[in-house]
Amino acid sequence: MDASIISQMLPLRSRFHRRLVATVVLLGSGLLVGCDRGAPTAKNGGAASSGTDSSTVSSAAQTAVAHNGSARNIVTTTGMVRDIVRQVVGERWTVTGLIESGVDPHLFKPTRGDVKRLNDAEVVFYSGLALEGRMSETFEQLRRAGKPVFAVTDQIEAASLRTPPEFADHHDPHVWMDAALWSQCVEHVGESLAKLDPPHADEYHERATAYRAELTRLDEYARRSIASIPESQRVLVTAHDAFGYFSQAYGIEVKSVQGVSTEAEAGVSDVNRLVDFLVERKLPAIFVESSVNAKNIKAVIEGAASRGVTVRVGGELFSDAMGQDGTYEGTYLGMIDHNVTTIVRALGGDAPEKGMDGKLEAK
Ligand SMILES: [Zn+2]
Repeated sequence: MDASIISQMLPLRSRFHRRLVATVVLLGSGLLVGCDRGAPTAKNGGAASSGTDSSTVSSAAQTAVAHNGSARNIVTTTGMVRDIVRQVVGERWTVTGLIESGVDPHLFKPTRGDVKRLNDAEVVFYSGLALEGRMSETFEQLRRAGKPVFAVTDQIEAASLRTPPEFADHHDPHVWMDAALWSQCVEHVGESLAKLDPPHADEYHERATAYRAELTRLDEYARRSIASIPESQRVLVTAHDAFGYFSQAYGIEVKSVQGVSTEAEAGVSDVNRLVDFLVERKLPAIFVESSVNAKNIKAVIEGAASRGVTVRVGGELFSDAMGQDGTYEGTYLGMIDHNVTTIVRALGGDAPEKGMDGKLEAK
């Protein structure tokens, strides 16, 4: 993406983000913040995931890494990316994330200090597909400076990526919602590191393979658990639609008060449409997943109640940010386990209270 496109898209994003930020402040949830997937701005990730740039390791970059001594550090963007990179590198590199738990990657704009951290990193990994839309220019600058910069979603075949009509010709960036797709990203991380650090290539490949086996187990848990929800109740109703890949992968219908775009305020008709749906389907629970319009979810619950149908909030789901670093929910496995387990138990399916491995915090 060239700079002129970036500057053209900024006014739109700024307007949009101000509203989101206002919503975040209003709700004060502190745990999860929203997602503005309705405002994709870079085409297929644009600069944020241009294939050739990030998948090719220049020999200069390789040399830079090879010649560096002990202080090997990798900087990542979201917690989800930080986690998979940590899994692959083990103790060999220090891996830190720029975007803290509870911060929306769509809205994240690097500070001067963040840019310095990126510059000081030997390698940078980010999610891509324009998720970190406000960082595209920074990534380009780093690449121009010869830094190895990788989008973890770079090697996913286009056929596996969602392109909802609302997205025009942009892909949905929320790939981590499908554990099998996210597993492909782990492979890409392993290969990228192996190219950068050939003496330890086998180790990276082995760790990536072992972690991918864990993700397969998670994928199977999700599939099996979601399938245990009575078919008529197998519907995930959230404030806005950030679960497209989840829906596709695990066979659960997704409905939201707002569509993929949070830009347009939900109207009375959107709320009524969902109330009709809930009354007709008699769903036991709907979910808050982010900062976006919890008031709409409340309105839907009240609307259903006025028609004699009790619907409760089934829980809070992690959408674009994980739990706190250092907790199980602050790992990718824990994040998805939490979402799956919360959804399945609230909708009458069969899942252990503490999740796949008994590690979830009891509610
Ligand atoms: Zn999002």
